[in-house]
Amino acid sequence: MTQAKLKQLVQASLIASAFAISAGHPASAAAPLAKTNAPGFHRIMLGNFEVTALSDGTVDLPVDQLLAEKPAKTTEALSKVFLKAPLETSVNTFLINTGSKLVLVDTGAASLFGPTLGKLLANLKASGYDAAQIDEIYITHMHPDHVGGLAQGAAAAFPNAVVRADKRDADFWLSQANLDAAPAASKGFFQGAMGAIKPYQSGDKFKPFDGKTELVPGIVATPSYGHTPGHTAYTVTSEGKTLLLIGDLIHVPAVQMGKPGVTIQFDSDAKAASAARAKVFAQAAKEGTMIGASHISFPGMGHLRSAGKGYEWVPVNYTQLR
Ligand SMILES: [Zn+2]
Repeated sequence: MTQAKLKQLVQASLIASAFAISAGHPASAAAPLAKTNAPGFHRIMLGNFEVTALSDGTVDLPVDQLLAEKPAKTTEALSKVFLKAPLETSVNTFLINTGSKLVLVDTGAASLFGPTLGKLLANLKASGYDAAQIDEIYITHMHPDHVGGLAQGAAAAFPNAVVRADKRDADFWLSQANLDAAPAASKGFFQGAMGAIKPYQSGDKFKPFDGKTELVPGIVATPSYGHTPGHTAYTVTSEGKTLLLIGDLIHVPAVQMGKPGVTIQFDSDAKAASAARAKVFAQAAKEGTMIGASHISFPGMGHLRSAGKGYEWVPVNYTQLR
């Protein structure tokens, strides 16, 4: 190839690339989509306590079929906030560093609820803590998306932790007689709870409590029975600031904030679940208490504001913790 010909080719190629760039088409291959999000933790201070919401992932739920509401009404309520069924639903857990104890409230699903969950341990690590550092684990209730993460196979995922839950949930979900009597479709719930708690029972590290109990200074188990027989909220208080971790008192804010009377199929006792929601929400709205919820969009922390016969959800402001 002659020098002149080579120069001509180089020029042609430069012109071609310039044209591609100016036309908005990069000359090289497009970068692949990253398809990941930021690590799933969100941290705030509550008085002197550090609170970290930790994501276990999300799961798609056919909420139009699960709520005790006409499917068309659920679809309409969802579309008003730009959502649809099946609803990508967050599974959140909460880590509280009181300064003397490291307490985890709920543990996500591990492998019990499908492949999109089970991210808790990775997100805990990303947030700067290790599973072995956790002193206490408080369970809101023993459904698989709350206790599954306790176990890693047959071993305890949190080797140094004591696990606490209301004895009403322990008596119900850990009962062989209840497992035997349960319909086939529900047996997995009992088996999941039993498998998750077992590694702690054998080490004498599972310690049920009976109703309202201060478990460590600043964290009080607060009965909110109904969703399950022993469903428990946890009231976290430091320096006069309060955060109420409400577990599964709500699943679909788009519907249940406006109509708190709407229940969901997962409720063991729908009437009691609805009454517990009514009581806790009324008090939290009145007192301006911050809420942390297992299934409100991550990080699931915010406030309730009274609106007509229901509530509006006001998510927490972002903070850099400076
Ligand atoms: Zn749940």
